[in-house]
Amino acid sequence: MLRFAPSPTGDMHTGNLRAAVFNYILAKQRNEKFLLRIEDTDTARNIEGKDKDIMFLLSLFGITWDNLVYQSHNFERHRQLAEYLIKQGNAFYCYCTKEFLDSKREIAKANHQAFRYDDSWAELQKDKNPHPVVRLKAPKEQMQFHDEIKGDIVFAPNEIDSFIILKEDGIPTYNFACAVDDMLYDIDFIVRGEDHVSNTPKQMLIHHYLNYEKTIKFAHLPIILNEEGKKMSKRDNASSVQWLLDCGFLPQAIVNYLVLMGNKTPCEVFSLKDTFEWFDITKVAKAPARFDIDKLKFLNREHFKKLSEQDLAVLLGYKDSTIGALAKLYLQEASTLNEIREKVDCIFAKKALLLEQNMESKNQEAQEILEFKDAINTLQLALLSLLKEQDFKRAEFDAFKTQAMQVSGLKGKHFFKPLRFLLTGHTHGPELSDLFPYLRLYLDDILRN
Ligand code: GLU
Repeated sequence: MLRFAPSPTGDMHTGNLRAAVFNYILAKQRNEKFLLRIEDTDTARNIEGKDKDIMFLLSLFGITWDNLVYQSHNFERHRQLAEYLIKQGNAFYCYCTKEFLDSKREIAKANHQAFRYDDSWAELQKDKNPHPVVRLKAPKEQMQFHDEIKGDIVFAPNEIDSFIILKEDGIPTYNFACAVDDMLYDIDFIVRGEDHVSNTPKQMLIHHYLNYEKTIKFAHLPIILNEEGKKMSKRDNASSVQWLLDCGFLPQAIVNYLVLMGNKTPCEVFSLKDTFEWFDITKVAKAPARFDIDKLKFLNREHFKKLSEQDLAVLLGYKDSTIGALAKLYLQEASTLNEIREKVDCIFAKKALLLEQNMESKNQEAQEILEFKDAINTLQLALLSLLKEQDFKRAEFDAFKTQAMQVSGLKGKHFFKPLRFLLTGHTHGPELSDLFPYLRLYLDDILRN
């Protein structure tokens, strides 16, 4: 079984989503079940409702799960296994108080040494501390595992000290709950962020002490860098899946990008389903991947092209498929749903209102519109009178243009700029002759105001 194991402690990051996507693809490729495990062991940091947000987002990205578990529902099992480890002698109660450990940390720091827990401290504070934690005994030998992306990784015995598996309130730590649940749910391949590399030997040690000898495959995903080449953090907008969606990136384009990023793929534009055919985790680069928003924009345009005109219209909030077709003409200059929606909404916006808004704005387009303000008013009246007499629903652009010129008496740019503004709400954009076959169906709506 494969699994995605998010903590409900914050918003989903692009790195989390990438891990979910990779695990899901592997489950499909290996014809295995996919488990969604909500890792709610950090009771102080859990945020109410985040589990539901995660499920909603996964569904939006086309990721479905066969099984759903909350780690907190297994706490009893975790405690029983911790008891077992204590009885067996591979885990022990540690009564050290926080103050005691802090003082030891200070000493290590003063001696320029890395702090390491010493098992002989376990019972020194027994009289002072009624709430011991449970620690797992440090390994005596070096530990190693093969990472499908990073290759062989070795840990010297002194890199891992006896670590906590049950906190003083009896709640398991991440490492313990994770290792036990991976065992209970028969997980055989784990893909997660590289911040977990140092947890892997600890989880392997837990399995070893529990006499669980199954070999689990691991792949730790390199970190994602922001556009400046620094580690992506919460401060980077693109680190938030919700932000990308709010900008109007399509879920299918985001998935495409997360698989493409830092990877060797047979083509650039693909669907999640396509990846089941060829995805190979070992081809993911070891080096951190840099988030390239322009590449994501390119993919977004490509996925818009693939959408049916009807679906695109609905996404934009319109009913007719012709609006979807019209919107596709804007893909040269608009990359996100929001940008495309702005273009289409401007076509149908009241132009008098747009004129007013532009009066306040100082940008170049606003200047241009203001320059042609009188001609715009003249042309609008001319077009409205033409529309009263004629139906242009099947007219060619040239015929429409010639008549509009005659009735308005306008020529050259004094005709074309206002015409473009009245038909599209902008002074630049796709060829009017390309837009017209769609615009002509809605001239009443477009010009009436
Ligand atoms: N809850 C951990 C996280 O969100 C899961 C890590 C793992 O996959 O083991 O980072």
